Amino acid sequence: MSQPEHDLVIVGGGPAGLSLALHLLHRMPRLRSRLVVLEKEHYPREKYCAGAIGRRGELALQRIGVEVKAPAALVEGISVRLPQGQIEARRGAIGRVVRRIEYDHALARVAEARGVKIEQGVRVLGVTRVDDGVVLETSRGLVKARGVVGADGVGSAVRRAMGLGAGLWRAQVLEVDTPCVPQDPPRAMLHFDLSDPTLDGYLWDFPTIVDGEPLACRGIYRLLVPGRGEDDIQGRLERYLAERGLSLRDCKKKRYAERGFAPREACAAPRMLLIGEAAGVDPITGEGIAQALLYGEVAGAYLADQLARRDYSFTGWGQALEGTVLGLDLRIRHEISARYFGPARPFYEEAFKETPDALRLGVDYFAGRKLERSRQLIAGLRVLGHAWRHRARSPLRPWLESA
Ligand SMILES: Cc1cc2nc3c(=O)[nH]c(=O)nc-3n(C[C@H](O)[C@H](O)[C@H](O)COP(=O)(O)OP(=O)(O)OC[C@H]3O[C@@H](n4cnc5c(N)ncnc54)[C@H](O)[C@@H]3O)c2cc1C
Repeated sequence: MSQPEHDLVIVGGGPAGLSLALHLLHRMPRLRSRLVVLEKEHYPREKYCAGAIGRRGELALQRIGVEVKAPAALVEGISVRLPQGQIEARRGAIGRVVRRIEYDHALARVAEARGVKIEQGVRVLGVTRVDDGVVLETSRGLVKARGVVGADGVGSAVRRAMGLGAGLWRAQVLEVDTPCVPQDPPRAMLHFDLSDPTLDGYLWDFPTIVDGEPLACRGIYRLLVPGRGEDDIQGRLERYLAERGLSLRDCKKKRYAERGFAPREACAAPRMLLIGEAAGVDPITGEGIAQALLYGEVAGAYLADQLARRDYSFTGWGQALEGTVLGLDLRIRHEISARYFGPARPFYEEAFKETPDALRLGVDYFAGRKLERSRQLIAGLRVLGHAWRHRARSPLRPWLESA
């Protein structure tokens, strides 16, 4: 095959791929004619997702002057129902709930207006590395590039081509849109129900706007914790809805999978790297839109540097990601997932319940606000105080006793 037609191909025009394209062109305008996004669908296209975006994700776009205009339900806080009771934090504007069919379309339009070339209706089937680049087999023939980014979500074809498995953390998700009911939390709250200790996950109620009508998006997220058996998530959601006078039979069931990030898993190979859900998002909640937008920003900085040096090895991507706030965030969420869904779960829940600062900090983080060290320290000390008071059954016991 002849010379590569593109310096970089981004596979997937979701939030991760489009954010990366925008950030890269912002840093390297001359890449415009050498960069393409291949998207298998045509916008507006559906993506099963509850659509809650933490403001910190959209700040990543705002830093390069991008604003995505899409209908949205505004979010001001988060409430969590635990077996020990309910906690909540209301902190002003912290994000919004969008419909992905509208949001991704609007983001794609902004990207095109800024010079990003998006080829729609092109599915990538496989990727092969050759001497001077990669060859992508697509539904429209072969495409040659110097490097490729897999931003193609949970079923990533690029990930498969890299020879990587599904990853440590996988989750099942089932969601529906329903009318609002009187038991619903206040409209501007994202509600998470973790009150059933036999579920490795949670049920949710989010406000949403469908064709101008205020509805509720509800669903169930179950992390497939290694070693656990089957679970009937549809039955669980059915009962949850019935408690609210709703019937699952009346709803369109939207079932999908998710992939969580695990720190030691590879996310790059020579000339290929992964971002967004192709690499992995938050395993504990399945939150992935803000992460996808932030992956785009972080990978944009990394790739601009690599491409300027004509270095397509990409092998430093994992380390570059690790050194960012996003990398630290994903690592912490992996660690929490590994500990929370086990025998110490009630201990963590009590600690969380007794430390209202922790939820407030989490909500402020979701919103992209600065978290003062003093606040982090106070929340940390409160958790330690809880661990000390309950040291007989604390998972921190060996550490507390040796300290
Ligand atoms: C039911 C459900 C509810 C969720 N709710 C939330 C929520 O409320 N908030 C939140 O933050 N996250 C939520 N998530 C997670 C969130 O949807 C994802 O983490 C996020 O969309 C990841 O973005 P991405 O750009 O990496 O991948 P995606 O959004 O999946 O985008 C991938 C893109 O690649 C395209 N593509 C795929 N394969 C190919 C191919 N072979 N060739 C070309 N193109 C391809 C797809 O068409 C798509 O456009 C939810 C997930 C599910 C399943």
